[in-house]
Amino acid sequence: MKIKFLGIGSAWNINEDNTSAYIKKDAKMILIDCGESIARKIIKDDLLSDIKELYILISHTHSDHIGSLGTLLFYSKYNKKILNRIVLPKDEEFISNLKEYLRLVDITTEVEYVNEDFFKKELDLISFDILKANHVKNLPCYCFVLEDEESLIYYSADNNNIDYIKKYIKYPNAQIYTEICNNPKLQDEHLLLQKLEEATDILERKKIFLMHINEVLSINELKNKGFNIPIIEKKEGKKLWKKK
Ligand SMILES: [Zn+2]
Ligand SMILES: [Zn+2]
Repeated sequence: MKIKFLGIGSAWNINEDNTSAYIKKDAKMILIDCGESIARKIIKDDLLSDIKELYILISHTHSDHIGSLGTLLFYSKYNKKILNRIVLPKDEEFISNLKEYLRLVDITTEVEYVNEDFFKKELDLISFDILKANHVKNLPCYCFVLEDEESLIYYSADNNNIDYIKKYIKYPNAQIYTEICNNPKLQDEHLLLQKLEEATDILERKKIFLMHINEVLSINELKNKGFNIPIIEKKEGKKLWKKK
């Protein structure tokens, strides 16, 4: 399973797009989160041309994770004739928040809702888990673990639960994608870099990719500590819209 990133930024790090990633398997694509800058990037880079089914995982309803989902669903269905499916956790509050959000942006028949088991089967995964994240009090938040023969991907979304990292890093083929922050005042909501440094050695850090990076963190410094930063490819498909 190859995961590619659309952005690695935190909410208002305008030097980077919002943190979001995708995985393509034949004509199916998994998209993890869809913050404000993401739909435009997907359209601009023409990422959906070879796709028939789009599976969307939403970690939580902060707008840097869901803010352009309405536009993406309209574009995907009406411009690309794609079947859109959102994978839902078993959580009434989350489901009602998400559906309320989509109702307000006029999404009705553009999307189907599926559960974890359906998704796991359709995408031919060995395992798939939606795990409760530690983020803010007002919103239910989740992170994702996807496993196929090739790799196990842990994707933290916004989440300060370091226990998940300690657990999944032990898997030989693990790829750990975690958010970080460097502001101790935000450590109840986000994973403090210092904590991650204390909990990991240099060898383990080879498996760790940092994301949701704010505007004051230095990517070079993070790399010097032995962590990886996801590489963002310029664009995959042809550019759709030519400037006149
Ligand atoms: Zn958030
Ligand atoms: Zn966020």
